Amino acid sequence: MKLQELLDELAPSNTRLIAVSKKKPNEMILDFYEQGQLDFGENRVQELTDKYEDLPKDIRWHFVGNLQTNKIKYIAPFVHLIQSVDRLKVLKEINKRARQNERVIDCLLQFHIAEEDTKSGFDWEEATAALESEAYANMEHVRIVGVMGMATFTDDHAKVRREFQQLKQYFDRLKAAYFPEQEYFREVSMGMTGDYKIAIEEGSTMIRIGSLLFGPRD
Ligand SMILES: *Cc1c(COP(=O)(O)O)cnc(C)c1O
Repeated sequence: MKLQELLDELAPSNTRLIAVSKKKPNEMILDFYEQGQLDFGENRVQELTDKYEDLPKDIRWHFVGNLQTNKIKYIAPFVHLIQSVDRLKVLKEINKRARQNERVIDCLLQFHIAEEDTKSGFDWEEATAALESEAYANMEHVRIVGVMGMATFTDDHAKVRREFQQLKQYFDRLKAAYFPEQEYFREVSMGMTGDYKIAIEEGSTMIRIGSLLFGPRD
């Protein structure tokens, strides 16, 4: 699909596009960049740091993959938004590395909403325990700006819709309980190539689109 067609489709909604460029070459990223796309997502630290080195510095890089604590230091100097925070331990390490770089790093709490165990994320109790922890209260270099989730990979649209509704409900409950006055807490990152239309209907503010834009990955 062409970038502009997708942007036109998003225009009536409150949803932004994150172009997930994992496994795709720099030339393809540059091509979209030259058409005005600035937000890109990657799921591997090494690949992300290589691309950051080689590509224009005003690209906003989103990290969307499983994050090992020992690799956070490599992306801390430049990452725009870490979407896949799934443990308090990860948040602690992000805070530490952000402090060393004298910055505040924006993060999303990833929730486990899918059936598959391979998809990671907090459940409700874990997330609230993290937010109520003393460790979190002392973190001055992370800012939680919303939630992220991945739905089950299935043709059952009703099921996908229920999972997105669950994530939106988690967002609303967190907002009310922990971020009532914080305008920056406003992101619901949900929707990929196969399910982004449903995600938009359910209140997504960020869709993460890979293969629809870049073609299939091998
Ligand atoms: C790969 C990936 C995407 C994009 O997937 P597509 O189905 O190719 O659009 C979105 N989010 C995450 C977390 C991913 O790993």
